[in-house]
Amino acid sequence: MTIKVVVTPRSFAATSPLPLKVLEERGYSIVRNPLERPLEVEELLELVGDADALIVGIDKVPRKVIENAPRLRVISKYGVGVDNIDLEAAAEKGIIVTNTPDVNTEAVADLAVGLILAAARRIPQADASMRQGQWKKFMGMSLFGKTVGILGTGRIGRAVARRLQGFNTKLLLYDVCPDPSFAAEVKGEYTEFARILREADYISVHLPLLPETRNLIGEAELRLMKPDAVLINTSRGGIVEEKALARALRKQWIRAAALDVFAEEPPRDRELLDLESTVCTPHIGAYTEEAVMRMGLEAAENVISVLEGRRPKNVVSCYRTHEGEANGGSASR
Ligand code: NAD
Repeated sequence: MTIKVVVTPRSFAATSPLPLKVLEERGYSIVRNPLERPLEVEELLELVGDADALIVGIDKVPRKVIENAPRLRVISKYGVGVDNIDLEAAAEKGIIVTNTPDVNTEAVADLAVGLILAAARRIPQADASMRQGQWKKFMGMSLFGKTVGILGTGRIGRAVARRLQGFNTKLLLYDVCPDPSFAAEVKGEYTEFARILREADYISVHLPLLPETRNLIGEAELRLMKPDAVLINTSRGGIVEEKALARALRKQWIRAAALDVFAEEPPRDRELLDLESTVCTPHIGAYTEEAVMRMGLEAAENVISVLEGRRPKNVVSCYRTHEGEANGGSASR
């Protein structure tokens, strides 16, 4: 029987044919997402019913999909965050979940710093105004010498902190697992969340979306922030309460926000997009030619490893072997 691999991310193999080639060389039949957007649950269900492997982007993979894909052996996340996948249902079905944690770190960190500067200097607003024939001056805020709070000092948070060394910033760090040697390296200081809210001029979010981080930044937290503070979120929309953020920006509890991620993607609610004090990008953190190629290749290799009976490079989910032994686990959850 031909092995069927469903691939949903539209950028898969977009910058190099290599990720597709390694799958085709194995003789797999590859079924691509026919739509110009992530698939809805019912659309995904139709494709995975007889699939052996799924390479998935941000499309939701709930229990309903997993339970109706009896041949599925691997869900290979094309990216890092696996909050869109029901990991428990996958583990119950013995489906291995993998991701591509290291390949897009630098791309997301580049964007985060770009968004900090874009929001601070109002670059998109100035560009849009000039294109409308105006020559209006936009007053910005400096990044150099300011206090930056980094929420989550994993791969991306660290890469951002390292880039900020050149801006002579004071770094306040927050993580459930503080790493003193990293703090020493970037001359940063681990501290409590509330202090970062109170003292930082810029707060950049790099946490995974988990039950304990969902809505972590809501009205109470936004009210604690400085009136000149800028919030940057390149991790997951669900971590910042969007209604509260829109209110905070309108009432000027904070100065600006730059967002690459939204609770719903694409967002149907336009409230944040309609504000002058936001800079918004459509989840492009990992969209560089280099990262897209490496993400695709790694997602494909994770599929091949599972289908050929080898341990994939990046196992996310814990699952049970036939002997009942627990396997897997990854810091990227
Ligand atoms: P990572 O796992 O390396 O880092 C996450 C850090 O958060 C870890 O250090 C962890 O200890 C910490 N953490 C976890 N739970 C916490 C909690 N409750 N309180 C405080 N700290 C906590 O992940 P990463 O590779 O740095 O990626 C971070 C997130 O960025 C991902 O989960 C993903 O959602 C998002 N991401 C977005 C894009 C994009 O295109 N915008 C691309 C890749 C990743």
